[in-house]
Amino acid sequence: MARAAHLSQYEERFVRLGAKPGHIRRIWRAWLGDGPWTTPESARFPRALSAELDAVREELESLVRFEARESRQADSAKLLVHLADGQYVEAVLLPRQALCISTQVGCAVGCVFCMTGRCGLVRQLSSAEIVAQVVAARRVRSDIKKVVFMGMGEPSHNLDAVEEAVRFLGDVAGFAHKQIVVSTVGDERLFDRLHAMSVHPALALSLHTTDNEKRARLLPRAARLSVERLLERTLDYAEATKYPAQIEWTLMAGVNDSAAEVERLAELVRGRYAMVNFIAVNPVDGSPYTRPDSEHIEDLITILRRAGVVATLRDSAAQDIEGGCGQLRAKHLARSAPAVSTPVKGEEA
Ligand code: SF4
Repeated sequence: MARAAHLSQYEERFVRLGAKPGHIRRIWRAWLGDGPWTTPESARFPRALSAELDAVREELESLVRFEARESRQADSAKLLVHLADGQYVEAVLLPRQALCISTQVGCAVGCVFCMTGRCGLVRQLSSAEIVAQVVAARRVRSDIKKVVFMGMGEPSHNLDAVEEAVRFLGDVAGFAHKQIVVSTVGDERLFDRLHAMSVHPALALSLHTTDNEKRARLLPRAARLSVERLLERTLDYAEATKYPAQIEWTLMAGVNDSAAEVERLAELVRGRYAMVNFIAVNPVDGSPYTRPDSEHIEDLITILRRAGVVATLRDSAAQDIEGGCGQLRAKHLARSAPAVSTPVKGEEA
């Protein structure tokens, strides 16, 4: 089966069929559910485009399909996203009108606490497949105001598609730029690109520790940037865009939850444009990592707050996202074995 096209490839196709910018905008609005697919006589599409419109509609509508849903709270749900080639990713409806989406099938970073990291990278999502998760989710919940790129995959490893998707969400779908959040383990190419993008999303850095060696063990295939460099680039971008950087920290008992380590984090971000989000690890089958107890997490938050750093523990729905991403897909694949895909080589950034 042919790979799903990017948004830019769809636009090139529309132009070849005679579309002007207004026609393209109309197609995208129809896909987003903000306008009709059929148009009044007076605003007809060019003949060649008209002839293909049904096929285009069908292709766009079949990019993703939600297959299973796991819900722990009324305002949140994890969605199993079925792609047209039979692969699966996950999206999560979150409280406060937010949606978390995936950028890759699998992930090459291999974070030790993450189910997605265990399967390696299977394939990249196209920009159209990334946005299609938002389109489909708006049909489940029409009031989505915020999109976080924090599901399966590392955005910096699929940079062109992520940039196209971010631009589409900001320019075409009308999301406020600061309501688009790209979460990354950190990569110079991503930081460079963010500054150059026409739509500037907010940035979340998955830091997890202030110890460089420990970070290399916890995130074995993340780009080898020091913690200092990661924070420098993240905080510079936050200050340039005036959106606070979100520092993400998956807490694992006895691994990265010492007061000393959190005091060091406080020193590094104190007085900067940043907030810290703790996420208690979501235990993965066979994993040795467990959550610290709530009292201890409160003590760690207090350390940061006393230093003037905004710090939170993500609510339980959101806790599932990073530490738990990939679990619904893994469950589904286990049930439907042997149709498990094999990671492909050569797609890593
Ligand atoms: S936590 Fe994110 S970056 Fe790490 S392996 Fe999972 S999906 Fe990839």
